Amino acid sequence: MEMRRLGRTDMKVTAISFGALPIQRCSMDEAGPVLHAALDAGINFFDTARAYTDSEAKIGRYISSRRKEYYLADKSMARTKAGILKDIDISLGNMKTDTIDLYQIHNIKEQKDLDAVLAPDGALEGLKAAQAAGKIRFIGVTGHSIPLLIQALRTNEFSTVQVPFNCIETGALEELFPLADSLDIGKIAMKPLGGGQITKTELALRFILAHNVVAIPGMDEVKHIEENLAPAKHFRPLTAVEQRELAEEAKTIGSNFCRRCGYCMPCAVNIDIPTTFIYHLQYVRYGMTDAIPQRYASLPAKASACIECGVCESRCPYDLPIRERMKKVAADLG
Ligand code: SF4
Ligand code: SF4
Repeated sequence: MEMRRLGRTDMKVTAISFGALPIQRCSMDEAGPVLHAALDAGINFFDTARAYTDSEAKIGRYISSRRKEYYLADKSMARTKAGILKDIDISLGNMKTDTIDLYQIHNIKEQKDLDAVLAPDGALEGLKAAQAAGKIRFIGVTGHSIPLLIQALRTNEFSTVQVPFNCIETGALEELFPLADSLDIGKIAMKPLGGGQITKTELALRFILAHNVVAIPGMDEVKHIEENLAPAKHFRPLTAVEQRELAEEAKTIGSNFCRRCGYCMPCAVNIDIPTTFIYHLQYVRYGMTDAIPQRYASLPAKASACIECGVCESRCPYDLPIRERMKKVAADLG
């Protein structure tokens, strides 16, 4: 299995590790086999977040008894010292552990987020206090804005950086990753499969493995574990033909797509925004014109119910024009 040293943390982790966002979509009973299968397959790094509803609780319930077998990464949207200290205690309780290996500032989206984190009584002070108390070991930062992450890394306060990186989103290669390397900061690639949009999974993961990063594809079924780990077991660089194949898919997807992260939720009128967008994509791009209208019909609220309040757009880290897209979905599917 390909392993990576996670920068100055010196943790040696599996190059394909476990993104624990999607297990919030599993029932409590379904999550257990997935988490155990990941450990049994050799994955030794799990990344969750306070914001991923019951993801922490599922980790605590099912694999806290195997805590010595894995490194644990978590994150919080809190921007204040008091807020993040409270979150760390909740995370420790949920995951039934005394220490979290890596605790990250979650989603630095705007300048005011970074300013608040670094300010007196900001979240960074809280993380340092938790570190001194032995509740966390290392401090990291996550986000989608490369300029803000570059600013954050230049403070030299963070041991890891987590950013979208995949064959469609390669912006981090220009300045962020070289800066991280120069400061010995570990690099974690979120959305390595473009939030499920990239269908050529094996090629996409081999693209990532050719870079010195740790990828955390989301997994919520046992079959995803074998599929995702296969490229890391017998790594081969992409051939020229495979590179062209992947570039072709990347071109079709473009850069302005929904990653199914769910940050836009909840919707004011209960529309399941990521599911609505994935159904529409399958309808228009993959020609699933029989199956999708039936699946779409079972959603509790339809795109046509959108009242254009815009709350979701202020939460979307990719600044997607959700209201405009809802109109397109409504025109095609109702
Ligand atoms: S703009 Fe539409 S989709 Fe977004 S939260 Fe408001 S009602 Fe929901
Ligand atoms: S619309 Fe934006 S926030 Fe919502 S799931 Fe898609 S990418 Fe995430």
